[in-house]
Amino acid sequence: MEAFIQNLNIDTFVDWLAYISLFSVICLVVALMTKIERTKRLKRDLDKIKRSFDQLDEQAKLIVRTDLELNKTQEELDKKVTGLYTLQRISHLVSTTLDENELFSRIKQPLISALGFEKALILIFDQQHGYAWKTTFGFSQDQLQAFLSLLKDDPLLTQVAQDGKSVNSAKMPVKDIDRLSRALDIASFIINPILTQDGVIGIMLVGNSPMAPALTEGDQDIMSILTTQLGQSIENARLFEEVFKSHQDLERKVQLRTRELANALEQVKKISKAKSQFVSAVSHELRTPLTSIKGYASILMAGTMGEIPEQIKERLAKINKHSDSLVQLINNLLDISRIESGKLEMRFETKDVREIVENISDMLMPQTKEKQITLALEIPTEVAKVHVDLSQIERVFINLISNALKFTPEKGTITVEAKDASPEFIQVDIIDTGIGISEADLTHIFDEFYRVDNPINQSLKGTGLGLPLVKYIVEAHRGTIWVTSTQNEGTCFSFTLPKAL
Ligand code: ADP
Repeated sequence: MEAFIQNLNIDTFVDWLAYISLFSVICLVVALMTKIERTKRLKRDLDKIKRSFDQLDEQAKLIVRTDLELNKTQEELDKKVTGLYTLQRISHLVSTTLDENELFSRIKQPLISALGFEKALILIFDQQHGYAWKTTFGFSQDQLQAFLSLLKDDPLLTQVAQDGKSVNSAKMPVKDIDRLSRALDIASFIINPILTQDGVIGIMLVGNSPMAPALTEGDQDIMSILTTQLGQSIENARLFEEVFKSHQDLERKVQLRTRELANALEQVKKISKAKSQFVSAVSHELRTPLTSIKGYASILMAGTMGEIPEQIKERLAKINKHSDSLVQLINNLLDISRIESGKLEMRFETKDVREIVENISDMLMPQTKEKQITLALEIPTEVAKVHVDLSQIERVFINLISNALKFTPEKGTITVEAKDASPEFIQVDIIDTGIGISEADLTHIFDEFYRVDNPINQSLKGTGLGLPLVKYIVEAHRGTIWVTSTQNEGTCFSFTLPKAL
């Protein structure tokens, strides 16, 4: 060591020092540069972090803003849902009554409040009574009076009441809504017409005071739905009232007419009874002298009171013939009045229709032969027996077949058919190939004394009592009678008779 120190001269030491210093400087520079580099990196990182923080801040602000907006939207949605729910309740309430006053009384204040409206009024224009307040919430009497005065000339109100247009204060210039706002102490309002098919029948106004939230477009939608529903319900109620009134009116008229008809029927019955009594009395009075006339004529004709000249004999024969017709007329009249008054005693028995018709066919053989008319019977053996008064039913067949003979030209055909009609009745048809009956005459054919104006009736005598008597007898057997006919082709008289069960 000592040798080393001895060998070490000062220059070398200085050189060494210089080297060491240089080395230190280099080291320092390197260290400084490294630090600068690190500082730069750190700064960059710091900037990055700062930027991230800024972004985070922005995002946080955005989230807060979005949250606020979401809350607002949620609130609006809630309001809308409540509004729609309330609207649906009001719609249900007003559409389930057909009484107009009841309809308005169902629109209660809580429902209007639930829609978000502080104040409301409904005014209906009545043709008879002018204006009628139906609903008013939140307005004083003075304010309502002021509203009525404005109704006549305020352009906003005439726009609704006359033109049927709605008004939303939010869409109007302040100066236009000022008058109404001040009169009713409302800052925002919506006015809608209430429409039916007859046009504007009323108006509805909803409004909020300056303290309450202003009405929005959503509120206008709600009002529009509400007033449309009101219009429809009022229309339904009015229509129902009209129908109900006319129904009551009709019922009253029907009752009145029924009473009148019952009275008239009573009168007719009385008159008919008096007629029957009169006809019966007169017929009885006529029958006795007629029998004497007929008797004297027969005695004179027989010559027991001395021989009489041929000419007088002929006259006497005519007296006899006319007397016979008169006796027949009187008998028919008596029978009709007896049946009408229920005095004709019926003796019901079970009879075979075929047998009845065959007997009558034999009886009328001379007339059938004289006119060369074919009288055909189409009555199957299996046709049920009938439960009838034989003498009366024989008169029915005699009258109908005699008429057919009278109104059927020579060589014609008359067919008598019988068939099953129902479990209780058989049907008989008497069909001829005669002159027929016109449509107009068919409706009167069963009227008493009705005779058709035709050449046969002009030459052959008749009473017009045959068919009414036939109808009475058939109906006295619970049967019905009707006729069908074609002019110049023929006539068919049909009637039903009760089966013997
Ligand atoms: P009358 O035979 O005595 O006139 P009826 O009451 O029996 O009275 O008949 C009324 C009218 O109905 C007759 O005058 C006749 O014009 C019409 N009439 C009835 N039966 C027939 C028939 N089979 N064909 C056409 N006309 C008929």
